[in-house]
Amino acid sequence: MPPINAFWCNRCDFVFHGWGGTSYVIDDAGERIICPHPGERVTVALVLGENASQELIEARTGFHSHCVCADCLHQFQLDVKRDERRCQHCNSRNIQTVRETVGKACPKCKEGTVEEIETGIMT
Ligand SMILES: [Zn+2]
Ligand SMILES: [Zn+2]
Repeated sequence: MPPINAFWCNRCDFVFHGWGGTSYVIDDAGERIICPHPGERVTVALVLGENASQELIEARTGFHSHCVCADCLHQFQLDVKRDERRCQHCNSRNIQTVRETVGKACPKCKEGTVEEIETGIMT
């Protein structure tokens, strides 16, 4: 079980509301169903069936990364492998995932650095 980490700026009040992202599974209608953690496999089995093949699971599951728009600071979830990197709010392509911001300039104040802090809470 991974620890829950928080991500925030060491200069201003910028903080990510999420801690990385969430898994999802695509149902027969093409809808992305969020798999609550822990127990992602239970949701996958509910949607794809208990006997789903590994190929089917790989084709129909994905990971939503927590992202921030560097232009308007809108935070949202995006599958960076499948989805276009574009802000759902202002259409900017200046998108970073939470992991990509760690150790880099804060998207809000541009002066601080985004740090990953272990909260000590285990999932
Ligand atoms: Zn934006
Ligand atoms: Zn900042």
